Amino acid sequence: MTSLSSILEIDPSILRNNIQKLKNKIKPSSNFLAVIKSDAYGHILSKVVHDIDDLVDGYGVVRIDEAIELRKISKKKILLMQGVYSNDDFKIAKINNLDLVVHNQHQFNIIKTNNDYKDLWFKINTGMNRLGFDKDDFLNIYENYLRDVRFTLMTHLAASNIKEDPSNEKQFLRFEELSKKLNPDVQKSIANTGCVLNFPEKSFDWVRVGIGIFGGYIGNDELQTAITLKSPIINVKEIATGERVGYDGRAVAKNDMKIATVYLGYADGLPQHVKDGSIVMVNNQEAKVFGKVSMDVTTIDVTNIQDCSIGDWCEYFSPNHSINNLASNNGSISYDLMIRIKSRVKRIYKNIN
Ligand SMILES: *Cc1c(COP(=O)(O)O)cnc(C)c1O
Repeated sequence: MTSLSSILEIDPSILRNNIQKLKNKIKPSSNFLAVIKSDAYGHILSKVVHDIDDLVDGYGVVRIDEAIELRKISKKKILLMQGVYSNDDFKIAKINNLDLVVHNQHQFNIIKTNNDYKDLWFKINTGMNRLGFDKDDFLNIYENYLRDVRFTLMTHLAASNIKEDPSNEKQFLRFEELSKKLNPDVQKSIANTGCVLNFPEKSFDWVRVGIGIFGGYIGNDELQTAITLKSPIINVKEIATGERVGYDGRAVAKNDMKIATVYLGYADGLPQHVKDGSIVMVNNQEAKVFGKVSMDVTTIDVTNIQDCSIGDWCEYFSPNHSINNLASNNGSISYDLMIRIKSRVKRIYKNIN
């Protein structure tokens, strides 16, 4: 017996296409670090790695458990992008041959204690003011400990997706001014997806690309959403003008309507605040969310959809209906939509074609 379930279908051939397109934008000399933190943005880390390992030069994750899992299945470079927070974790990182980000003095103290300066990436704050050394603090460490060490200098952009935002130029300038003071063989890394697309000339030695691989970058139609979130319709009913649908009666019928109830709600990871009018696909036709998202179901307007019946699938996003639509119409971001899908949604990972 199979029980009714919503499905998240993952298509790895799209991930491969997206990686190729992104690689075509960067300098041939730049290395490609696939950022696959948070279970590969919800795409199943172990399976994704199996299918993209030949295309990438390394991986970036945040949690050490993910790095350990990853080390079992790939020999490529693995960067722990927020470094380690204890001596024990440092030792685990070394055993697993991980590269480590060092973003503050506390982390650098762990490095000093262990007197092991191999495979480090120093993160510089160039204006995001979240993580990273300020210039003078870093130069102090550099003069005292790193003059003869091969390392990578990195920073992270706060607004790479907004090309005209003046913070980008300011961050590039600060980064480049600092790198001029260092040994020329220091490697450099700035670019996330937004930077690769908006400032490909800043690809330096390593790009660190996440969301673009998964097709969640708004403002680029070449990159395709690789997942389909779909759920079966479990009820269809007609309602008369003036009837209200769902909690608080948010949606009011202006005409006689046909309403379908879909087996996916906020307990499955669909944001509760999804608005009326958000577009979903039923039988390759557009339907609209009508009524507040409930814990277990969504109600949609299928008045104009032919032959809509129980058992038909409602698609919230897919390779043909970008996840960016749902994100941008609801004040959300694709990153958040991808990682919030809950385990009660069945994941189906397709074979590569
Ligand atoms: C998540 C992350 C990235 C990837 O960013 P995208 O916008 O998903 O491409 C790059 N660098 C660091 C340090 C990150 O934490």
